[in-house]
Amino acid sequence: MSKHKNLHDLEDQIRQCVKCGACQAHCPVFAEHKREPAVARGKIALAHALLDQDLPLDERFVADMSKCLLCGSCFDKCPNLVPTDEIVAAARREIAERRGLSNFAKVVGQVVKRPGLMKIGLKGAGAVSRLLFRKVPQSSGLRLRFPAPWIAPDRVLPEIPTQTFRDRHPQFIPGGEGRPTVAFFTGCMLNYMYPQLGDALLKCLKFLDISVYIPPDQGCCGLPSITAGDGRTVEELAERNLAAFSQGEPHTIITACASCNIGMGRHFASLGERQAEIGGRVRDALVVLEREGLARKLARLPKKEQRIKVAYHDPCHLRTQGITKEPRALLRALPGVEFVEMEGADRCCGLGGTYSVYHWETSKKIGDRKAPGIEKSGAELVATACPGCMMQLQDIITRAGLPQKVVHVLELVARDLPE
Ligand code: SF4
Ligand code: SF4
Repeated sequence: MSKHKNLHDLEDQIRQCVKCGACQAHCPVFAEHKREPAVARGKIALAHALLDQDLPLDERFVADMSKCLLCGSCFDKCPNLVPTDEIVAAARREIAERRGLSNFAKVVGQVVKRPGLMKIGLKGAGAVSRLLFRKVPQSSGLRLRFPAPWIAPDRVLPEIPTQTFRDRHPQFIPGGEGRPTVAFFTGCMLNYMYPQLGDALLKCLKFLDISVYIPPDQGCCGLPSITAGDGRTVEELAERNLAAFSQGEPHTIITACASCNIGMGRHFASLGERQAEIGGRVRDALVVLEREGLARKLARLPKKEQRIKVAYHDPCHLRTQGITKEPRALLRALPGVEFVEMEGADRCCGLGGTYSVYHWETSKKIGDRKAPGIEKSGAELVATACPGCMMQLQDIITRAGLPQKVVHVLELVARDLPE
């Protein structure tokens, strides 16, 4: 039996929508489409109609339900805290159960369930990288040379690393005696595409004498399959992560990816009691580092003469959990950084997992709204706390012809730490 809540289980929450429309002003998709089915209120009305069997599950319904980033911005601002992202995810599972998964969702499911396949794919792409991709000089990213399914030809992709993060580090790295231990949930983008972010996190933990355990059998957080409506894959991945993080002491589990944080925190926790216990221990790395006094320690280091101007982009999956102060506190404390607030820092970048694959043109429009704020800030770097946002922001910046590079806050912190 499925552990997921279906639309019937969410009926009370669906009925809590009072149709006030407060969500409209905060929905990035509605800002582009200006159609009621694009916003939370419209999606909840569709879910309601489906429950009452007033509506066929036709192409139009499927298309309307696919137009959501699951960013949580509406939930954040809703007076009744209607969990639209959960309701949309349940509607997508219902669609998949009745009509079958899309081909893209099937491929995503196969890939995220098989870490070995991801590694082989990465190695293969790395080996023929020059043949498949061309460099984008202004961003140090890559673009496809040939058309490929589900990847827009004008999309900037990160360079392909030669080794995954988990392959280049031991399972346990001891810190100081009497100091805390954390377990690290690496997530796929960090492990396979941005291993340097994990290296930066390890350097920060070492500076604070914190021990770190990296469970080798951990899997994907499941968010790509949640967005694709593939409930079975999500449950399989949850079983793997349950086993990987049930061993040993119940340490705090840290993530360095905003989407993994919501995937392993909120979504995983909704699948059962044991999952709730583990999900309840998930914290963003920047929150843990800040609480362990890293910003205070950094502020005591002598300021550098040459400081880089850095702006910060709030990933929706952290912002909607109220995690906005910690990344800024760390950036402000850095001796080599001059932090500048930018206009629209809290605006969604438009990635949204499968959303940017199905709705690339709208995803680009949502993202492009960030460009003026980045330009006006005068920052040389845009820092954020999510590998997915990093990829999307670099794409936005390159398309706008701006000079900025995108980095993770952890990379800047690690760069300024004494050796
Ligand atoms: S989802 Fe919330 S904010 Fe939007 S119309 Fe319903 S009650 Fe209002
Ligand atoms: S989750 Fe985001 S994209 Fe989806 S309806 Fe809410 S605000 Fe709009």
